[in-house]
Amino acid sequence: MKFGTKAIHAGIKPDPSTGAIMTPIFQTSTYVQKSPGDHKGFEYSRTQNPTRQVLERNLAALENGNHGLCFGSGMAAIDCILKLLKPGDEVISTNDLYGGTYRIFTKVFSKYGIKFHFVNMEDSTQVESLINKNTKLIWAETPTNPMMNIIDIRALGKISKKYGVLLGVDNTFATPFLQNPLDDGADIVMHSVTKYLAGHSDVVMGAIVVKEDKLAEELAFMQNSCGAVPGPQDCFLVLRGIKTLHLRMERHSQNGKTIAAYLKNHPKVDKVYWPGFEDHPNHSIARRQMRDFGGMISFTLINNRLEDAIKVLEKFKVFVLAESLGGVESLCGHPASMTHASIPREEREKVGLSDSLIRLSVGIEDAEDLKKDISKALEAV
Ligand SMILES: *Cc1c(COP(=O)(O)O)cnc(C)c1O
Repeated sequence: MKFGTKAIHAGIKPDPSTGAIMTPIFQTSTYVQKSPGDHKGFEYSRTQNPTRQVLERNLAALENGNHGLCFGSGMAAIDCILKLLKPGDEVISTNDLYGGTYRIFTKVFSKYGIKFHFVNMEDSTQVESLINKNTKLIWAETPTNPMMNIIDIRALGKISKKYGVLLGVDNTFATPFLQNPLDDGADIVMHSVTKYLAGHSDVVMGAIVVKEDKLAEELAFMQNSCGAVPGPQDCFLVLRGIKTLHLRMERHSQNGKTIAAYLKNHPKVDKVYWPGFEDHPNHSIARRQMRDFGGMISFTLINNRLEDAIKVLEKFKVFVLAESLGGVESLCGHPASMTHASIPREEREKVGLSDSLIRLSVGIEDAEDLKKDISKALEAV
């Protein structure tokens, strides 16, 4: 099946007891057994829930994997992956990544004796040079957040296979519509479902998709043992959101292209970061591994002043100032003080995340209104 058909149908069947076309919200914690151990495959809703199971199967199909696992948040999904490791193990991670991921690496799991290396993965030889016998996981985000760098997943996949190390990719920004890391050699795909997959800014959820049975078993063991599972109502909302994922992503990408071009020609704007530009340093890789370029854009202002960025952010009307991304509505944010505030200034500046950097999550409104809004807001500079 092609993507749009999978989004609507994969893993989903009408409810056998009623014919309900939509997956019911199985708001239940437990399931009646006929005799001890004699049940219909569901025992307790931390372990399995029918609404969650349908969503997990749907997500697995969208990422061309075999197993999906859902969590109470994206961070809970990352937490589960890291629990595959033990003290002494090492992780090589993208240096330009989601602030919460940086925090769980450096403030939580480093306490338990896991060592993290942060590198610019645009040059994959840097990754290879850090591998040693303790390396267990390579962790990548592409496009990176918020600098919109592109990392070659296929190149990392080759390195991970060569050394027998797991490759995990946070595919939140791209979504399975734009990019399928498992096809390019990743072992684990992770999502903050909160963002584009749910798509309507009304749910917090995470997910993992893998191909391999043994890896899925280990992750499912952790999911059940540690228990950070989402509730059935949220699973229902995400199933509903995913039915339009392909349509939303097409429009996000189309609006993203329009807004990126508009910003690039604006006299108050200095740099624009968007992988769809032909002069983006890794445009050719983006072209190969992504179906389109999405609606995430970052830009800096001329003179790079924090005060100007704040004034612009206050002046936006259609773009609302908020954490998060990937909803139908356009959002703007200031990474240095919001999503990436947990990363020390020196680390931030090393990757180009400067004080005037503004990140846009371009929604699916009419692009003309979005352009007008940007034009008005930039009058503040
Ligand atoms: C939001 C986000 C996360 C964390 O997910 P939550 O659902 O907020 O816990 C991880 N990675 C990326 C790229 C994100 O944008």
